[in-house]
Amino acid sequence: METNIVTRFAPSPTGYLHIGGLRTALFNYLYARANGGKFLLRIEDTDKARNSNEAKEAILRAFDWVGLDYDGEVIYQSERFGIYEKYIQLLLGEGKAYYCYMSKEELEDLREAQKARGKTPRYDNRYRDFQGTPPQGIQPVVRIKAPLEGEISFDDGVKGKISINAKEIDDFIIARSDGSPTYNFVVAIDDALMGVTDIIRGDDHLSNTPKQILIYQALNFKIPKFFHVPMILNPQGHKLSKRDGAMNVMEYQSMGYLPEALLNFLIRLGWSYGDQEIFSKEEMLRLFNPNDLNTAPSAYNQEKLLWLNSHYLKVLSVDSINALLPLYNEQIPSQKIQDILYVELQERSKTLQEFVALLKECLLPVKTYDEKMKNKLQTLENIHLLKELIIYFKAIKNPIDSTKVAETELESFANFQGIKPKSFFMLLRFALLGKSGGVSLAPLLASLEKEEILLRLQNALANLEMA
Ligand code: GLU
Repeated sequence: METNIVTRFAPSPTGYLHIGGLRTALFNYLYARANGGKFLLRIEDTDKARNSNEAKEAILRAFDWVGLDYDGEVIYQSERFGIYEKYIQLLLGEGKAYYCYMSKEELEDLREAQKARGKTPRYDNRYRDFQGTPPQGIQPVVRIKAPLEGEISFDDGVKGKISINAKEIDDFIIARSDGSPTYNFVVAIDDALMGVTDIIRGDDHLSNTPKQILIYQALNFKIPKFFHVPMILNPQGHKLSKRDGAMNVMEYQSMGYLPEALLNFLIRLGWSYGDQEIFSKEEMLRLFNPNDLNTAPSAYNQEKLLWLNSHYLKVLSVDSINALLPLYNEQIPSQKIQDILYVELQERSKTLQEFVALLKECLLPVKTYDEKMKNKLQTLENIHLLKELIIYFKAIKNPIDSTKVAETELESFANFQGIKPKSFFMLLRFALLGKSGGVSLAPLLASLEKEEILLRLQNALANLEMA
């Protein structure tokens, strides 16, 4: 067990939380929780033009839904400008950062000239050691003094040793001319002040890390351990699009996914433990270690998610299902339905949405009868059989209160009629559901009230008797 681990998740509320973000959050959460450490949530909301309150709320809602609890209050970068300003002044005072008076046009000209010479555009350090009188009418930016030579290296927990030649990093801007601090600067300041020891994040941030390390070094902050996780790709090996699942995490809820399934799905995208697929939260906590993160990108697999979801749906308690029904605009049905039919519906559904659709089908009287089925079933023999079924069901004294009892009744009806047990199932299905497919007949019969069964049989009879 590691000690004093502090991790964080630091989303920008410029869009909804998508599954890539949730996976990052999960990894950080597990690492902290498994080691008795802290997991912090920081909202990176400095970009006023691109932030939305709605996105902020959606991130918090998604966290709540999947049950990732964070320590302390949410930290908002937008409330910390005073802190950033203090550190900018500190670096200026220590000569580790400086004002640069180059105008936008001058910078543009410099870049064009460099490009024309086939060089990578970069700032030419012209104000790095400037001692003269600043030009008039220019609001300066603040640049950090990056090392002029040597290497910037760190040991990435996923990628191994990363070394960047200092020449590749110029004196980058840490405060814009309006005084606002830049992205890499605030991330480094916050991670340091929040005491973050381990940063697990997408490898799209890998190129930011050397810059952030320079800030740590300039301020003598302890450099955290970084883990840059490869992206989640679609099955074709491309960036995830909305169609492949890169949508708001909360949409998974509306589609009927369970948070347990989603988290289990995500932990396996980029991490494995032998060939185990199902991980309870306890197992995730016990087994996950960021040092075992895969170096190769992982592929989003919708079938796998459905498979996991049906697994978790099967083991869901009746009470848990009842608690979830209002989310899908469904009321809690009778005790009989809960006791008898839920198991059957759970077996047959991959998502809660499917569960609710099947439940609705069972509960509501048949509105429309499948035409093709009707044409097939419309024989005198079937009409007779349906009448016999009505007589039989009317005469049943003992309640049909379990699937087993319903099965026995169906068998004895068949015996009584001298027909094969399954030979009238299509007819019965037509009467009870109005269509082929759907749930098994025995649990359906057992869960419906006798009057409801008789009503459906009579309605079907009337329908078959009609031309
Ligand atoms: N705010 C960044 C993002 O949403 C994450 C920053 C980080 O993890 O360092 O991509």
